[in-house]
Amino acid sequence: MAIQNIDVRRCMGCKTCVVTCPTDVFRFDEKSNQAVAKYPSECQVCQMCANFCPVGAITVTAEKYTPILTAWG
Ligand code: SF4
Ligand code: SF4
Repeated sequence: MAIQNIDVRRCMGCKTCVVTCPTDVFRFDEKSNQAVAKYPSECQVCQMCANFCPVGAITVTAEKYTPILTAWG
């Protein structure tokens, strides 16, 4: 279910993922000054957070994708 991961050793608290995620998966933890993937089940695997994170701290897997089968598949 947790289809994305934030590497806490890399996250430097820029909040880019918090403001860019279209489905509001992230929350910002002021105590640790890091983003938290609080609602991972809402992730739509758009990859925006992973693409925009300046330090490459976020990993998004393609678990939600299902293979498209064709008659010629
Ligand atoms: S975009 Fe990356 S560095 Fe910025 S808060 Fe999110 S995980 Fe941390
Ligand atoms: S892949 Fe897209 S929907 Fe999923 S957490 Fe990142 S920005 Fe949000």
